Amino acid sequence: MEPPSSDPDERESIPGLRKIVHIDMDAFYASVEQRDDPSLKGKPVAVGGSAGRGVVAAASYEARKFGVRSAMPSVQAARLCPDLVFVRPRFDAYRAVSRQIRAIFNDYTPHVEPLALDEAYLDVTEDLRGIGSATRIAELIRARIKAETGLTASAGVSYNKFLAKLASDQNKPDGLCVIRPGEGAQFVSALPVRRFHGIGPRGAEKMAKLGITTGADLRGRDIAFLRQHFGSQADYLYRAARGIDLRRVDANRPRKSVGGERTFERDLSSGPVLREALDNIIEIVWERIAKSEAQGRTITLKLRTADFATLTRARSLPQPVADKAEFALTGHMLLDELLPLPQPVRLMGITLSALEGEREAGPHDGDAQLSLL
Ligand SMILES: [Mg+2]
Repeated sequence: MEPPSSDPDERESIPGLRKIVHIDMDAFYASVEQRDDPSLKGKPVAVGGSAGRGVVAAASYEARKFGVRSAMPSVQAARLCPDLVFVRPRFDAYRAVSRQIRAIFNDYTPHVEPLALDEAYLDVTEDLRGIGSATRIAELIRARIKAETGLTASAGVSYNKFLAKLASDQNKPDGLCVIRPGEGAQFVSALPVRRFHGIGPRGAEKMAKLGITTGADLRGRDIAFLRQHFGSQADYLYRAARGIDLRRVDANRPRKSVGGERTFERDLSSGPVLREALDNIIEIVWERIAKSEAQGRTITLKLRTADFATLTRARSLPQPVADKAEFALTGHMLLDELLPLPQPVRLMGITLSALEGEREAGPHDGDAQLSLL
């Protein structure tokens, strides 16, 4: 058998191999804020939260040097970085940039699958401009994003989605990385599984307990083992450990509702404890949303108090929820509206639904207890 070509431009001659580019804006929300407010340039900036409450949605690179990360409680972030500047998120501004970059993507291919406001997969196996080289297209897109938005993006180029996403993360910020056919398995073997798309903090924790921390560890487990422990995700993991990914770039993802709820062992009452509980639920529900590729505009928070009263708050955004940060921020806003509570809370749930005004996910939409996860 011929070894796979190392020239990315000969990929189309290998059956099944595509040319995939993953574009990811660098520290997106924080970079937009620094662009639009020159007084923030060079400063550690956290978008979302405030010195007292909530979670950080995004951190500038200056803030990351202090260990500030997205999804971190604001209190912890402020402790790590006393000069941290908290900025309110402006999703309208982020959406405007998102529209600009999607227009750029569409100049090269109609096969664009957005993952968030600031990242997307592009299938450029056949590109609209006849350029032919995925690497060249990635460089052109990065240059145009810089020129038209004043912001930097990183790009990953490879022969499938899984590897392209890993690659875009490799040389951040303002970087490019190419993983050629024949290099995928080796690239994956050294990586911590935490970096694999689809493996969240909980998934990584579960794997660590099974002795799996790197791609090589994962590759060492057979498909039966993976099915036993990871169910429907087993095939994806088995292939990912080998640098293989059969998922197509899908420009038309389905819309459905996804949510989850949790009954607590002990009733919760204080604000910080409820916020932490909400973060844990969001973590799991967002993994489920990402896996099912659900989209929706309405976020509903449900609380059941010790006296079995059910309180709900819902908010509909003008456009589908873009990413986990927006989902989490909205969830926390809804919780803040309900505080302080008249009674301790025995159950909490959050749902992303497709239709405005839809309060509960349907019976087949996975609005189930989270205890099994
Ligand atoms: Mg990004």
